[in-house]
Amino acid sequence: MTPEQLAERVLCWYAAHGRDLPWRHTRDPYAILVSEVMLQQTQVERVIERWTAWLERWPTAVALAAAPRAEVIAAWQGLGYNRRAVALHEAAAVLAEHGIPQDQAGWRALPGVGPYTAAAVCALALDHDVVPLDVNVQRILERALDATAIEPPAGKGHDLTQALFDLGATTCLARIPRCEQCPLADACPSRGRRYEPQRKQSRFEGSRRQARGQLLDRLRAGPVRLADCDPTIAALLIDDGLAERQGRRLTLPS
Ligand code: SF4
Repeated sequence: MTPEQLAERVLCWYAAHGRDLPWRHTRDPYAILVSEVMLQQTQVERVIERWTAWLERWPTAVALAAAPRAEVIAAWQGLGYNRRAVALHEAAAVLAEHGIPQDQAGWRALPGVGPYTAAAVCALALDHDVVPLDVNVQRILERALDATAIEPPAGKGHDLTQALFDLGATTCLARIPRCEQCPLADACPSRGRRYEPQRKQSRFEGSRRQARGQLLDRLRAGPVRLADCDPTIAALLIDDGLAERQGRRLTLPS
């Protein structure tokens, strides 16, 4: 199977089976950026509601940039990996001041935006002919083409990206792919294979990450006396821009 054949089949499959997700109804780069940042570590079902509420509250980068940092961190509650909220707030400030970047290099210059997110915003908001390589896309390309990247047909960067996202999320699953329903099955050299379980994530219970999240949740409810905090965890939150000292108390950043 050639990359061109893969693209054609996946695009055809997407036309019939693509998921209807709220951020697929917009090409606003800021809104797409918010969705991509939320989706980095959080499941789609959870992001749907939170993305909608976020865009209602802060519909533009200018609006988000003008919000107090503490409100942004508070609104991120439950999404996890809270540093993303700080980076998104900082990125909004750059967008508000300098406008929308028109290429991947411009996006990569924003806080918290790496090569994947830059390519995703360019494909999904700006219609660039590029396919961002998230784990789902990489898995399909590796299994079906033994390739590490794909060039979309002209004008199809957006659709091929969404199509590969969906195929990876619903069909070419990490451990037990559903090859029987895959549009690539008759030409895929990996058809029918099973894969070893992924390496287990380190335990969350009792971890430093859990302690950081718990302290941040306390701060969302109000200032906490420094004497009542684990100093190491407090210092980590301060380093990440998620908290600050005010006298003898720890608070969300002002
Ligand atoms: S045939 Fe199976 S392994 Fe190959 S791309 Fe489809 S789901 Fe993945």
